[in-house]
Amino acid sequence: MSSKSTLFVANWKMNGTPSDLKEINKVADFLKKKFNKFLKIVIYCPPIPLLTYFSKKKLSSSIKFGAQNVSSTNIDYGAKTGSLSPKLLQKCGAEYVIIGHSERRFKGESFSEIKKKINTSLNSNLKIILCIGETFKQKKNNKSLAILKMQITKSLSMHQNLSNVIVAYEPIWSIGTGVVADQAYLNKIFNFLNIFLKKKYKIRNPKILYGGSVNHSNIKDLRLIYHCSGYLVGGASLKAKNFIEIIVNYYN
Ligand code: PEP
Repeated sequence: MSSKSTLFVANWKMNGTPSDLKEINKVADFLKKKFNKFLKIVIYCPPIPLLTYFSKKKLSSSIKFGAQNVSSTNIDYGAKTGSLSPKLLQKCGAEYVIIGHSERRFKGESFSEIKKKINTSLNSNLKIILCIGETFKQKKNNKSLAILKMQITKSLSMHQNLSNVIVAYEPIWSIGTGVVADQAYLNKIFNFLNIFLKKKYKIRNPKILYGGSVNHSNIKDLRLIYHCSGYLVGGASLKAKNFIEIIVNYYN
C-alpha cells in the first residue's frame, strides 16, 4: 500500500547513453518539488559506464544508484578479466546491486553463483536486490510457491546480514510482455514471501518488490499488493515522463 518510503528501482538493462542524464535530471527535479529532499526512493541501475558517469553528477539525495551484476569471486581486485569487483562498484557510485535477474539466469547463471555474488556484495556492504520468479508453465502447474521457496533457499545463507537484502518478485512471464498477474495471485505470492522471509530468515520487515511490465496505468492496481515495498521497472523507467507518471499514479 502507498508509503512514502516505497522504492522505485529502474533497471535499464543494456539501454541508455550518456545523454540520458537528462532523463534522470527530470526525475530528480520532480522528486525535489514533490517530496522531502532527503527521501531516497528512486534507484537507477544503468549499465556500468553510465552508472559511473551519472553518479558523479550532483543530482538529488533522493536518487541512488545500483549495478546490474557483480563478480562471484571473493577477492576485491585481481586477475579476473571482465569481472565486476563489488568494492569498485561502490567506488563508482553503486549502493545496490541487482542479482539473479532471469535474463542472466537464462544465460546460465546458476544459483550457486548467485549465492556467491550475494555473499561478496553483502560483505562489501552493497545492498542486494535478489530477483526471483516462476515461469508461466510453473504457474500453470501450481508450482509457483515451491519454485520461489527453492530460489530463495538456494540464494540466501542464514548467517548473512539479511537486513541489506531486498527480494524482487518478477514472474518471468510478466517481464517485458505487458501481462500482469491478478490481484489475488499477487497477494498470495507476497503474503507467502513475507511470512517465509520472516520465519526462516528472521528478517523483521522483509522488503519485497514487484517487477514485470509495471506502467503508469497498472500501477493503480499494483499499489494495492499487500507487503509490497516497491517496484522494479524495466522498459517504463527509461524515459522520465513514463517513470514520473508511475510515481504520480502510485501516490494519487
Ligand atoms: C525487469 O526486467 O526487471 C523488468 C521489470 O522489465 P519490464 O518492466 O520491462 O517488464
